[in-house]
Amino acid sequence: MTAPHPKTWLKTLSDGLFCEPGGFYVDPLRPVSHAVISHAHADHARPGHRNVLATEGTLAVMRTRMGADRAGDVQQALAYHEPLQMNDVTVTLVPAGHVLGAAQIVIDHRGARAVISGDYKRQPDPTCAPFEPVPCDVFVTEATFGLPVFHHPDAQDEIARLLNSQKLFPERTHVVGCYALGKCQRLIAELRRAGYDAPIYLHGAHMPVCETYKSLGVDLGDLRPATVAAKADLRGAIVLAPPSAIADRWARRLEDPVVCMASGWMRIRQRAKAGGVELPLIISDHADWDDLLATIREIGAPEIWVTHGAEEALIHAASRMQIRARALRMVGYGDEDAA
Ligand SMILES: [Zn+2]
Ligand SMILES: [Zn+2]
Repeated sequence: MTAPHPKTWLKTLSDGLFCEPGGFYVDPLRPVSHAVISHAHADHARPGHRNVLATEGTLAVMRTRMGADRAGDVQQALAYHEPLQMNDVTVTLVPAGHVLGAAQIVIDHRGARAVISGDYKRQPDPTCAPFEPVPCDVFVTEATFGLPVFHHPDAQDEIARLLNSQKLFPERTHVVGCYALGKCQRLIAELRRAGYDAPIYLHGAHMPVCETYKSLGVDLGDLRPATVAAKADLRGAIVLAPPSAIADRWARRLEDPVVCMASGWMRIRQRAKAGGVELPLIISDHADWDDLLATIREIGAPEIWVTHGAEEALIHAASRMQIRARALRMVGYGDEDAA
């Protein structure tokens, strides 16, 4: 008997990707009875499911962000690399290198294997386990930065630019816009790796997930709330805040701030300018163009499906590599800061 092709059992429904023989959705957009969640960003982990399967890290962050009662009536933690039988399939979670707890979802069904990447990156990140390529028949990939223009430099080089600016303007507060989950903790860890050991100040929205990371063993050093800190303490300090806060009244309370933003989108100069960003830092938790292509080549699957992002260019590049490629055109993913 030949193995059933994943397109016969992994379906794109309006609520998201549905694994029929497993009886579960992956990262469903609306509350469902059985959900397997790749990671805790708001566009992938939505509240109100009956049964939720995810890594312990993802479940912990989900509870922090949405409250324990909304993170799933029944929450089942699955460790990386531990196969779990679910109806007629086997599910295994493998690190995706995106944020703490992020997993690729490996589904085996009667000799066929699909791997759903969730969001992923290949750059090193001191706050989470690195991406592991898994051979498969169909690789379901994101393409957030699926255009050749997107190149993410070494994060340590971008951190060096931030620290240089701080040396240049010792009186000014550097306020860095970043997502509350993943980017914030990665920035802190990269600053620590660069030898920066002063207190780092956080907008109130950023403290809870940092506490969760710390409880899961990620060392972030001395963190202090920026909201209650005296203005004098913030002179010359580094403050992390949500992207939405850096341009509004909250940031203007700070003394002559240097407005920074850490994002893969900062590669687009106009975007930084329009956001009033003085120091754009190109630091991303997604694979850039070269890493998307390298990953697809390395995994060597004969077929890829692209969930969301700039799929056209990636599909074109894949077909030139003799890989069948199709766009799933999934809407509802991509805005990680929706929470
Ligand atoms: Zn994400
Ligand atoms: Zn996403």
